[in-house]
Amino acid sequence: MIEFLQKLIKIQSLSPRDEGCFDLIEERLVKLDFKCERINYANVENLYAAYGNKGKLFCFLGHTDVVPTGPEEKWTYPPFSAQIDGDLLYGRGTADMKASIAAFLESLEEFFATSPELNYRIAILLTSNEEGDAVDGFIDKLVDDMIDNDEKIDLCLVGEPTSYEKIGDSVRIGRRGSLGGSLKIIGKQGHIAYPENVDNPIFSASDVIVKLKNTIWDNGNAIFSLQASKYQIFIQELEQKMLYQEIWICFLILDIQPSQPKKL
Ligand SMILES: [Zn+2]
Repeated sequence: MIEFLQKLIKIQSLSPRDEGCFDLIEERLVKLDFKCERINYANVENLYAAYGNKGKLFCFLGHTDVVPTGPEEKWTYPPFSAQIDGDLLYGRGTADMKASIAAFLESLEEFFATSPELNYRIAILLTSNEEGDAVDGFIDKLVDDMIDNDEKIDLCLVGEPTSYEKIGDSVRIGRRGSLGGSLKIIGKQGHIAYPENVDNPIFSASDVIVKLKNTIWDNGNAIFSLQASKYQIFIQELEQKMLYQEIWICFLILDIQPSQPKKL
């Protein structure tokens, strides 16, 4: 598995390019009799591989693209070297999520070596555009196609990294949702020397920010809690010696899973 993972890491698959990871993955899946299909959409490459023809559908979902490396000289080892040092393997995309793909393939091979009688189907769905902006994303299109074909995924395993200290010490059962908004607060602009003629929107905004912060949006459940996690404020029409006429508050509310690992 490690050798295969190193091969994947050495491929510079910066989002949204796959750059050949799918070829290596497909080669192994074909040997297991998976039917592989490339679903390319705009500038995004996707691989859908399926095994079996009856029963419920279990799908492994993942991506081969990685985010840019940042300054390479700041890396302990070059980001696409896949260098092993002690117990660690260094490389862009190792945790997120080429190791996950390599591990799943390895597990599949071990599983099929036992000649299992399956009453369900197994699929792997990989994209090359998970890390970038959602422009040209493909999930919507694939989901639409599945709905058109009366098809649905019954169980889905997402290979994103969730471990805290060691592999498998934490498995999550969902992905956070978020709510974002922007609010324009209108005041009255004026010269800083005559504050009595000004309605400075920053003061109104501060009240709004406190309200946003203190609002209980939802009580969550055993798995997810909800909290307003981040506020950003940017100011428009900033002119010297003039007070602001309006400002925008941008806010983002995320539901999160508690930071404590869940025992399996
Ligand atoms: Zn990821």
